[in-house]
Amino acid sequence: MIRDTQGRWLRNLRVSVTDRCNLRCAYCMPEEEYKWLPRDEILHFEEIDRLVDIFITLGVDKVRLTGGEPLLRRDLPRLIRLLAAKPALRDLAITSNGVLLADQAQSLKDAGLHRVTVSLDTLRPDRFRQLTRRETHAEVLEGLAAVGRAGFTDTKIDTVAMRGVNDDELADLIEYGRKVNAEVRFIEYMDVGGATRWSMDKVVSRREILDRLTERYGLITPVVETSTAPADRYRLPDGTVFGIIASTTAPFCADCDRSRLTADGLWYLCLYAQQGTDLRQPLRAGASDDELRALITGGWEARRDRGAEDRLVVRGRSPLLQVERLKRDPHLEMHTRGG
Ligand code: SF4
Repeated sequence: MIRDTQGRWLRNLRVSVTDRCNLRCAYCMPEEEYKWLPRDEILHFEEIDRLVDIFITLGVDKVRLTGGEPLLRRDLPRLIRLLAAKPALRDLAITSNGVLLADQAQSLKDAGLHRVTVSLDTLRPDRFRQLTRRETHAEVLEGLAAVGRAGFTDTKIDTVAMRGVNDDELADLIEYGRKVNAEVRFIEYMDVGGATRWSMDKVVSRREILDRLTERYGLITPVVETSTAPADRYRLPDGTVFGIIASTTAPFCADCDRSRLTADGLWYLCLYAQQGTDLRQPLRAGASDDELRALITGGWEARRDRGAEDRLVVRGRSPLLQVERLKRDPHLEMHTRGG
């Protein structure tokens, strides 16, 4: 187990398996063209498996597969089988946009995946089309239904709440979540790499979300729990639980135990970090497990990142990075580092 300079343990690894995505959400991939990671630089499953083993020896016990859209990675259940065979991983989850889930939910479950989170920002097909520039809303809803049928529990729906876009659907999404047996988590719109159209006035804050839902449902009570999960959870009078990830107005950097591995093996210590550590190069050059472990330990023990908190004090806040900068280094994009 290792701690960073702020006493935060390394526990949680988000592994991006592809930078590609089959949606073009306005808050993540608003451009027409993207530069993709070269295929020969994408980590093979055996390479991911080996790195995860090393991370486990350093204290990681939660792995989340991300993208891009992770279900675009061919034969993903094979990677899941490799990871699910590690008893030290007490949580093995995936975040998907749901488009391909109807076909794959059962094979993911059979491969040993523990949990699924589906990103869904709207229940309205026309709005979905506007927001994602794709016509696959029905597929996402079918995907969510398939998750339940495949026997998954503890399913989450992640919704980025944006003013003037979907902030009139908060209660509808909670109702929908209840129907499909999934807990909705509202995420405050963040100014991370890729969110080039972000502005503070589009952020629907935790306070506002709670006020609106209180108006609709009556008294909302916080669920008291000790965890480093980013969502604060709340209970409606009828017992329905939902979460809010207040990453913009009330960041949780003080407890952040997460790091991110890109599909080509760069390791980032914060969603806002502009530099990562290249693990692919030493891995492919024949580094031993001890050498890779030393590299990871050195990186984590020097970690000072509190990206979202640092952004809080920026005056006249605008998107973190401009398009030109993102084009020069696609690793700065949220779709490359797994959100
Ligand atoms: S901004 Fe960085 S340090 Fe803060 S919670 Fe997010 S990933 Fe962790």
